[in-house]
Amino acid sequence: MPLQLVWPTQVGKISQHFMEHPEWYTSGGLKGHEGLDIVTKTAGEIYACADGVVAEVRLDGDTFRQLPTTDPKRWGFAYGNQIRITHLLPEGEYTTVYAHLLEARVVAGDRVKAGQLIGLADNTGNSTGTHLHLSLKKKGASDAGETPQPRDLIDPEPFLLPFGTVPESSGDTGAPAPAPAPTIGLDALRYLADVTIPDNSEIPSGQPFTKTWRVTNTGTTTWANGFTLRFTSGNPMGPNTSFPLPAAKPGDTVEISIPQTAPPSLGKLVSKWTAANAQGQSFGPNLSIVILVDETHPKPVPLPAAAADGLRFIGDLNFAGNPLVMAAQPLRKIWRVQNAGSTAWGAGYVLASIPGDPLNALPPVPLPAANPGDEEEVSIEMLTPFKPGTYQSKWQARNPQGQPFGDVLSMVITVGIM
Ligand SMILES: [Zn+2]
Repeated sequence: MPLQLVWPTQVGKISQHFMEHPEWYTSGGLKGHEGLDIVTKTAGEIYACADGVVAEVRLDGDTFRQLPTTDPKRWGFAYGNQIRITHLLPEGEYTTVYAHLLEARVVAGDRVKAGQLIGLADNTGNSTGTHLHLSLKKKGASDAGETPQPRDLIDPEPFLLPFGTVPESSGDTGAPAPAPAPTIGLDALRYLADVTIPDNSEIPSGQPFTKTWRVTNTGTTTWANGFTLRFTSGNPMGPNTSFPLPAAKPGDTVEISIPQTAPPSLGKLVSKWTAANAQGQSFGPNLSIVILVDETHPKPVPLPAAAADGLRFIGDLNFAGNPLVMAAQPLRKIWRVQNAGSTAWGAGYVLASIPGDPLNALPPVPLPAANPGDEEEVSIEMLTPFKPGTYQSKWQARNPQGQPFGDVLSMVITVGIM
């Protein structure tokens, strides 16, 4: 009985065939589309195409999208969450690969039957909309010249049974299964939603709040004692940098809540957190808090009228006039300014971002020491955003009492794909 593949989704339609669109795939070393794209809805059920053994489950999630486009490692994550199943037949060893998944319902080493539910569909990895990408490999096919593609990739369609067809009999010969990969516990987490404090919530400086995210344990391990959520980068919003993760079995959806306090810095502030297991290894995407800290709390203490802080913008020393820049690059913006007030700048005088996009700088940035009338350069190191688009970053000086003063310093950049 030659290999037969049962339809792996709940929708009987192929949206892209084998070898289509060579122009999209040649840069990845392929001769065209290396498998079939099959229509499914988000979280639609994905079925094993044939009897076999799960060789690998990789829950890379959206690592592909989080890595800079310049990172060569990125292409290793193009399939997102994926399952690989090995099928041993008299005519050879085949592997089916199910890519861009939401989650897996099997683990490496599982024996599966044709038509068995193995996972749910999504849009993870290098994908622009929910679908199932199915690849089929036949060991030795590239070397034997049976396929134009590298890596033993062959066209699954000749083996695919019509939608709704039940296989006549098992394609499995009962031959011994390949030694299953050791079943290693996989820690994984999928972000579902912000339950409280949606991005850009306005919160007065100093006000306590509770941030809650809804997540699913998409791994094969149970979150228990020792699993934590750790502060990884951005603006600290409280003294604790680690909180216990709620208990969750594989597949459970739970809420993670942490107490935070809006910091004294003003503007758009971001705090990033990552889950970690009992061995301290982090997993899953960053969970972030993005707040706009209100400028009216606490009330600034007015300065005596005689002492006036001032800053005058003189010129842009670089990145003037909306230049095109690369994504995800460090960038140091420099302005020339003058202390146009009657007070000297010293400890506690800072530049703070004002609503706009601080481009990942960590405000506040100290102002250089300057006497009234002095000219100085002020600079801020930022990271350009990952997504193409036009961004504005705006900054204003603050005195040690937190009172803003002087000209607004701004920069407009356009992040392009280069
Ligand atoms: Zn595809």
